[in-house]
Parts: sequence; C-alpha cells; structure tokens
Amino acid sequence: MNIPENDLSDMRRKMVIDQLSGRDIKDSKVLDVFEKVPRHRFIDKKFRKDAYADYPLPIDNGQTISQPYMVALMVQLLDIKNTDRVLEIGTGSGYETAILAELAKEVFSVERFKNLTENAGSVLKEIGYGNIRLKTGDGTIGWGEFAPFDKIVVTAAGETVPELLMEQLNSPGKLVMPVGSKFNQRLLLLEKTAKGDVVEKNICSCTFVPLIGRYGWEAGGAGKDI
Ligand code: SAH
Repeated sequence: MNIPENDLSDMRRKMVIDQLSGRDIKDSKVLDVFEKVPRHRFIDKKFRKDAYADYPLPIDNGQTISQPYMVALMVQLLDIKNTDRVLEIGTGSGYETAILAELAKEVFSVERFKNLTENAGSVLKEIGYGNIRLKTGDGTIGWGEFAPFDKIVVTAAGETVPELLMEQLNSPGKLVMPVGSKFNQRLLLLEKTAKGDVVEKNICSCTFVPLIGRYGWEAGGAGKDI
C-alpha cells in the first residue's frame, strides 16, 4: 500500500505526541529526532500502515523492530551527546541505529544476522547517514577494535550484562539493556562513574527478543530465534 509522504509525517507527529511526549519522554532533542527519522522506511511495505503504531512489528528472521516508546526510553536514558561514540548490539531494522546516529558523533552497531545487517545498511545509506559502522557478528563480545564507547545499548535480552560490554564502556559511561528471562525482563541502566564504579538502576519491566551468543542464550532454544 502506498501512503503519501504527508500522511506519514502526520502519523509520525501524532506518534511523538501521543506515545512519547504524552508519556515520560521529555528530552526535546529526543523528541525532535523521533519526529525526523522516517520509521516506515525500516519496515516491510505490508506493515507500513502500522509504522507509527504503539507496538513492535515483525522484521525478517523472526525478530522485531522495537516499540517506538521503548526505543525513545532507552535513548533518553543514555543522554547522548554529539561527542559520544555509541555501540548498539542488535541492529535489527536499523531504526534505532538511525535515531542514535542523529544524536551521537559515531555509531557502531552489531547484528548477528547478515541479511538484517545488509538491509539496515542499505536503508541507512539511502537516507544518507555517514557516521554509522555496521558489522555482522556476535555482539555479546562487543566490538573491541573501536572501544571504549561512551554509551552502549543492547536491544535484545540477556540473563546478565556481558562482562566484555562493561569492559568496553568508557568511564564515565552509560549502558542500557533488558535483563531477565527469555520472556520477561527489566530494563537496566548501568552508569560507570569517572572512577570506574558501577551504579545500577532498574527502570521498568519489558519484553525483548533474546540475545543469542557466547555470553547470551544458546541459539535454537525456546524464544523467537530461527
Ligand atoms: N533496535 C532494533 C531491535 C531489533 S530486535 C530495531 O528496533 O529494529 C534485536 C536484534 O538483536 C535482532 O535483530 C537480533 O537478531 C539481534 N541479536 C540477538 N542476539 C545478538 C547478538 N549476540 N549479537 C548481535 N545481534 C544480536
């Protein structure tokens, strides 16, 4: 279905008001980028009419593009500065990668499925981002070559925060990740102080697809992995 660009902009504006500023997303820089980034471009055409709806949507490989509010909450918690180098684990559709790239100096994003990395890469290139580096691989080991990162966001759920990610986080730095069982998690914010101490905050309950890898869940178990 072809939806005119003007209608898509209206839907996007309504999403920002109803789902983000109408809730607890108050950071104006965050609200501005959600108004700007064309979420529908990261979604299969058959789901486009729901591109600005208040829930996650399916992408390839049994994965999901996260609910807009959840992406906004994670990004607001990270408090991204335009000097920050950010690591994202779980590129998925690439939508959150684009949001991060609008706010940060540079974004490094790792995805375990090659076809998702490629799809995300072509949409991000079409839109014109020049400050994003993507790679296919196991993000539970981070991306040592470019560490340390000022901010890290993990967009899939693990039982614990992988140790290597904490090591690759700058001091000071912030990391956001859903932690818990395969089916229900708590969104955690871990703040590393300039001295290297870590302070953990429990933000809210959430449900993400599982983080599969050496320091995550095994592939092939229960969950949405295929
Ligand atoms: N922010 C993305 C969320 C995608 S869902 C979006 O809004 O589109 C989470 C993604 O994490 C999935 O694409 C999944 O394949 C990926 N993933 C799971 N385990 C991973 C791992 N160990 N390394 C990298 N990516 C992983």
